[in-house]
Amino acid sequence: MKTVGVLALQGDFDAHRKAVERAGARAIEVRTAADLSQCDGLILPGGESTTILKLLEDEKLLEPLRNFGQEKPIYGTCAGAILLAREVTHPVQPSLSLMDIVVERNAYGRQIDSRIARVPVNGQDELEAVFIRAPIIRRVGGEVRVLARYHGDPVWVEQGRHMVTTFHPELTDDPRIHRHFVDKL
Ligand code: GLN
Repeated sequence: MKTVGVLALQGDFDAHRKAVERAGARAIEVRTAADLSQCDGLILPGGESTTILKLLEDEKLLEPLRNFGQEKPIYGTCAGAILLAREVTHPVQPSLSLMDIVVERNAYGRQIDSRIARVPVNGQDELEAVFIRAPIIRRVGGEVRVLARYHGDPVWVEQGRHMVTTFHPELTDDPRIHRHFVDKL
């Protein structure tokens, strides 16, 4: 059985652990480079990307994560998507730069910062997508495949072994997103 690490420094990592198990893989919490070395893939959960970034720096995990991403799949949810992006705006902040996407933080605005939406997926049933102070993916590179859009903006994309969603599938019962990731391992 494959092992998926869930970065457990801040954010909603416990819901991801359960979603990974529902998708048929083993889940472990990752807080150190030693934890990371046991994983076949990694999930960067939602939370506050600025805080997660600072904790990654404090724990000296940025370099190990970049190296991990050169070989193994990483899935970023919301704040995790911000961490994986090549470029982050609003405000500008550093990132792992493992996916060729440009994201704008908190892009849906303050008044309507959380919502549940029905999102069409090519050739499949709609997904129920929970957005919480979500970023918008403003640009995708030529190697990025868009798997779902909401109001025209990409909300689920993949590039080779990596993928991101700007919404939170760990908060619904739909196992498709985590299964798609587990299939990459
Ligand atoms: N607004 C957060 C950020 O910019 C992301 C929110 C989330 O992960 N649900 O980091």
